[in-house]
Amino acid sequence: MSKKALIIGAGGVGGVVTHKCAQVPEVFGDILLASRTEAKCKAIAEQIARPIRTARVDADNVEETTALLRREKPDVVINVALPYQDLPLMDACLAAGIDYLDTANYEPPDTAKFEYKWQWAYHDRFKDAGLMALLGSGFDPGVTNVFTAYAAKHHFDEIHELDIIDCNAGDHGHPFATNFNPEINIREVTARGRFYEEGEWKSTDPLTVSKTYDFPEGIGPKKIYLLYHEELESIVKFFPTLKRARFWMTFSDNYLKHLEVLQNVGMTRIDPVEFEGKQIIPIQFLKALLPDPASLGPRTKGKTCIGCVVKGVKDGKERTYYVYNICDHEACYREVKSQAISYTTGVPAMIGAKMMLTGKWRGEGVFNMEQFDPDPFMEALNEHGLPWQETFL
Ligand code: NDP
Repeated sequence: MSKKALIIGAGGVGGVVTHKCAQVPEVFGDILLASRTEAKCKAIAEQIARPIRTARVDADNVEETTALLRREKPDVVINVALPYQDLPLMDACLAAGIDYLDTANYEPPDTAKFEYKWQWAYHDRFKDAGLMALLGSGFDPGVTNVFTAYAAKHHFDEIHELDIIDCNAGDHGHPFATNFNPEINIREVTARGRFYEEGEWKSTDPLTVSKTYDFPEGIGPKKIYLLYHEELESIVKFFPTLKRARFWMTFSDNYLKHLEVLQNVGMTRIDPVEFEGKQIIPIQFLKALLPDPASLGPRTKGKTCIGCVVKGVKDGKERTYYVYNICDHEACYREVKSQAISYTTGVPAMIGAKMMLTGKWRGEGVFNMEQFDPDPFMEALNEHGLPWQETFL
């Protein structure tokens, strides 16, 4: 039963996935962690009592990755590098005949735009090869898709409205830092807001729609902002009864103030700029200046609360259901040396791989999380450190 996993990407999320896979030896018998900088893999491996093998790989290079896959023959590739590596890694998996999982959909490096179309286009090739690719097995996307599927399966005859609400009530004490890769985070936050209503996508200027939401378990009221988030695209496709689907995230005034200045002076640009005879991309330079998200672990206090508010009809009556997880930054650090943002992404990545390796979720082709039975995944969340609560509002 025990299988071999190849984790690619030794950043904040990669560290958590490695720790969590190591906690489940009956499924993950052999773990190999590979990244662009092998020293980062070794530093993670040293934190873990079980032996973790490491390797260096440039995941943009399909031939190099294919050679590693052919040599190692893992049962699954867990891609927690960056969204830019999704397509080259899917190509390498196809070439070597290996199943694939990731936590974020593909983005072309030169356009701040994410869509599933590039990865959905691989469906027939994975199907014909008898392989499975599971897309977006993080928290959002990931658990939020599973929460929606669970609500639809157990609590509604038809779901009509979905609000995914992501709150980080943690404090890392820096004037400005991002909780995951700064480049990916800032590209997401500065993009136009977008939501689904009555059969069409509507867009808003970035961060212009907000309201106050009162979070449970002592977190209290926080301002939430409407953003576009990738899981809306697949959820709307797989739950066609939805009349409206939106995504909201909390930001502190301090974060927004810094972001506005950085944007105004051009530091968040993703196009090359000439500087002292060299071409530099401002957002990549900014990333080099900002704290490494992996370094926030020991200093972040407070909680995250990510969940779904679902409205719909059951037995002819309207109802509103809320399902959420609360995660404590300091507890995460004690367990896996990481803050809760990486934790809430890394745990579902491990669980997604566990679902694939144990055959609880199987299919040939490219799949989103909500296409599978949510029940075993929901059970595994309780078992592996992300317990959830549910209530009717
Ligand atoms: P980090 O920047 O901390 O880590 C990314 C890692 O990938 C780095 O170790 C980097 O190596 C490695 N990497 C980058 N390019 C390559 C390459 N060409 N070949 C091999 N390795 C490479 O990011 P995070 O850990 O914060 O995020 C990881 C992923 O998780 C991202 O895709 C992010 O979008 C996703 N995510 C998903 C969430 C969800 O809920 N679904 C939430 C948060 C993140 P090096 O350090 O050597 O450059």
